[in-house]
Amino acid sequence: MSQVVYITVEPSEQTCVDGISQKQSGWIHEHLIESADPVKGRQFRASHHIPKGTCLLVDRPYAVIPVVDEPAVNDNLICNNPACNRRAPRAERYSCLNACIQDVAWCSSICKDADKSRHDFECTWLKRYAESIRNKLGEYEFGMLWLIVRLLATRHVELQEHGSMTGSQTRRFKHGWEAIDSLCGSSGTWSHDQVKSWTTLVKKYLKSSPALPHGLSTDRILHLICQEEANSFGLYPRETGHFPPPSPPIDRGEQFAAAVYPTAAIANHSCVPNIIHKPNDEGHMVFTASRDIFPGQECCISYFDLTQHSELDSRRGHLRKSFRFVCHCDRCVSEEPAEDTVEWSAMPLTDDTI
Ligand SMILES: [Zn+2]
Ligand SMILES: [Zn+2]
Ligand SMILES: [Zn+2]
Repeated sequence: MSQVVYITVEPSEQTCVDGISQKQSGWIHEHLIESADPVKGRQFRASHHIPKGTCLLVDRPYAVIPVVDEPAVNDNLICNNPACNRRAPRAERYSCLNACIQDVAWCSSICKDADKSRHDFECTWLKRYAESIRNKLGEYEFGMLWLIVRLLATRHVELQEHGSMTGSQTRRFKHGWEAIDSLCGSSGTWSHDQVKSWTTLVKKYLKSSPALPHGLSTDRILHLICQEEANSFGLYPRETGHFPPPSPPIDRGEQFAAAVYPTAAIANHSCVPNIIHKPNDEGHMVFTASRDIFPGQECCISYFDLTQHSELDSRRGHLRKSFRFVCHCDRCVSEEPAEDTVEWSAMPLTDDTI
């Protein structure tokens, strides 16, 4: 394969990344800081000069689900132990004894045992609802609801292990459920019809019950859906965010999972990003500087595959539909014909414009 490699990682950074993987925790470069913008909200900035190729973030998912067709025969299915997330090849899989769904499998008996209390939380719910949700609503809605259940499952395990949510007063970034709790995601961002539809789903499938004992209110779960929809990542085998895209273009490949990351979610979008992102073999999201970043500059990723939407209208249309904002990054503004400036800026995000 002749894939062009743009990024070099210093040996010291590589060692650091490997060390983190072994410890199964996150890591953030000391020169990557969080700040707040009056319009965009939370964001990453560089506190010092960050050279091109620097590893900036390795973030462990709080929840991840596999996204593959025909999981029983698909070698891209990932191990369901969130501390592993490696591919679980067909021949070496361990399945759930309760036979909940075929998407649930582990790469070893060790992973299966280690994941017991988290999977026990979701198993009854999956067995009861997965098939009917898939048949009635389709894969996207099922994936969204399952990711919510997995966020609740991790919270459940966190509560069991610590008795309460761990504080993060001594950390630079929030941690665990506290970080998920602080993700942006307002119901006002979406159309009235969308929020109404999610409210129906919450009441039907996600209320606290013996099958899903989370103890949270309907409103809180609705807010969690808004947070998940605004902040989840698709996981792809190749990098997202090369700009300019290589010629001939290399896309990021086929999605194999979806995840919510507590810290990576802070990154805003730019169509000329200075960070490339890609999950490593364990599903940790890795950010790497794709150019020199100077003190005070915002550090951005691309929310979509830049090889798929190259024209201004295509990029803005995709971002409006899928991420509910009008992009005013440097590239979009520089490509804007003068007469379009008012039209895009003045157009409110209402039900009619989606
Ligand atoms: Zn595993
Ligand atoms: Zn199960
Ligand atoms: Zn843009």
